[in-house]
Amino acid sequence: MLTRRAFAGAAAASAAGALARPSLAANPDVIIIGAGMAGIAAARAVMEAGRVPVLIEARGRIGGRTYTESHTFGFPHDHGAAWFEAVERNPLVPLARGLNFQLAPDPETVSVYIGGRPADAERYERIYRDAERRIDRAARNGGDVAVSVALQARDSLERLAFAQIGPLDAGVELHQLSALDYNRQADGGLLLPAAGMGAFVQSYGASLPVRLGVRAHRVDWSGPGVSVETSAGTLRAPAVIVTVPVGVLAAGDISFSPPLPADKQDAIAGLPMGSFNRIALRFERRVIDEKPFTALNALTRAGDAIYAMLRPFQREFAIVCVGGDHGRALEAKGPQAMIDFAIDALVEIYGGDLRRAVNGTHATRWGADVLTRGAYSAARPGHARKREALAAPLADRLFFAGEATDPKWAARVAGAWTSGQRAARESLAVLR
Ligand SMILES: Cc1cc2nc3c(=O)[nH]c(=O)nc-3n(C[C@H](O)[C@H](O)[C@H](O)COP(=O)(O)OP(=O)(O)OC[C@H]3O[C@@H](n4cnc5c(N)ncnc54)[C@H](O)[C@@H]3O)c2cc1C
Repeated sequence: MLTRRAFAGAAAASAAGALARPSLAANPDVIIIGAGMAGIAAARAVMEAGRVPVLIEARGRIGGRTYTESHTFGFPHDHGAAWFEAVERNPLVPLARGLNFQLAPDPETVSVYIGGRPADAERYERIYRDAERRIDRAARNGGDVAVSVALQARDSLERLAFAQIGPLDAGVELHQLSALDYNRQADGGLLLPAAGMGAFVQSYGASLPVRLGVRAHRVDWSGPGVSVETSAGTLRAPAVIVTVPVGVLAAGDISFSPPLPADKQDAIAGLPMGSFNRIALRFERRVIDEKPFTALNALTRAGDAIYAMLRPFQREFAIVCVGGDHGRALEAKGPQAMIDFAIDALVEIYGGDLRRAVNGTHATRWGADVLTRGAYSAARPGHARKREALAAPLADRLFFAGEATDPKWAARVAGAWTSGQRAARESLAVLR
């Protein structure tokens, strides 16, 4: 598989609000800020240990960067995460199966196009595999260097393959990406939950004590215990687990008293949010002459790299993914510009008939979402170890989770889950 990110989905998403939730404790043991997968995993672990968590979530739903909805296209559509990655080791795969989520296999067909013309897919795959080996060597020999030290494109096919590693996977350009961080990540096969990743996370997080629509503004950890000022009043507990995206921390949207120490602030600055968005197009009839689940890797005539998932689940549907500098600039132009770009990119390859057949569109804009401020974290060169620094607890009462804090599964739902479990264990260890 040539990139770790894509999407498709089927069947119905379960609505978080529709499920019964326990009442909220007046005196919780742990306050958890953010009900994405990290907060959900932390809350479950705290409850399993017989302790009482309270989850607060600024959105009107749980799931954070996983979100499946069916109203746009009439079938489940993921706005955020969609794939289970490195499925041979991914701890979420058995959990999803246990909740009866049907998982579709890794797409086997890869199409490669340069400037609207088919390119040599075998050479492309060799370039990609070789690139991974070169990053591995650079990380082992050179340490925490930029991926661009190992990869300098000599032609369009190399540019395209390298873009699938930088902008279209990590969400940043190669010179902004730590080779060591890239190399530490688990890699392997892919699986798509047919009902959607967001639906899986909603289902996994059902029945937790969560306050939706409540935003944390300030965390006072001067002690004893912690108090969290929110849009719905102040909560107090012996410990707090902060799971908001690193983009939210970097923007200073939550203030800390006393302020976070310099090494924590340095870690936040070393793990900026990359840009990655999905532009979805539905067609009224078959206009793309590819097999279902084809992974399209293409460089447009203008030189912009895209990844697209074509005809998932036999639907006349395409998800065009954009990322890195190009994706960020495109997102800033707004949803219509994103949709026009995606249609033009596919028209170059599959012809003008495709434009006339479009009968539904959607574009995500995770960079404009103030509760995320980007897609996921990417360690800058020289900053791979900042994930551990971000994860480190403070004063036995302030704990950190979220994908950015996980060295092995960063930028993925599995990293959110693993980190939530870790932070819950840390907090439980100090509760008496
Ligand atoms: C477009 C896209 C595609 C992706 N594709 C994949 C994929 O295919 N596979 C994969 O494994 N991963 C993928 N990811 C990454 C994955 O979605 C994330 O790594 C994971 O969901 C992060 O979970 P989290 O709990 O760490 O953070 P989040 O899910 O962001 O949860 C944090 C929560 O905190 C809340 N919050 C923020 N500020 C406050 C506040 N002040 N007060 C209260 N609450 C607040 C937010 O609303 C949010 O719900 C993708 C992400 C994006 C954006």
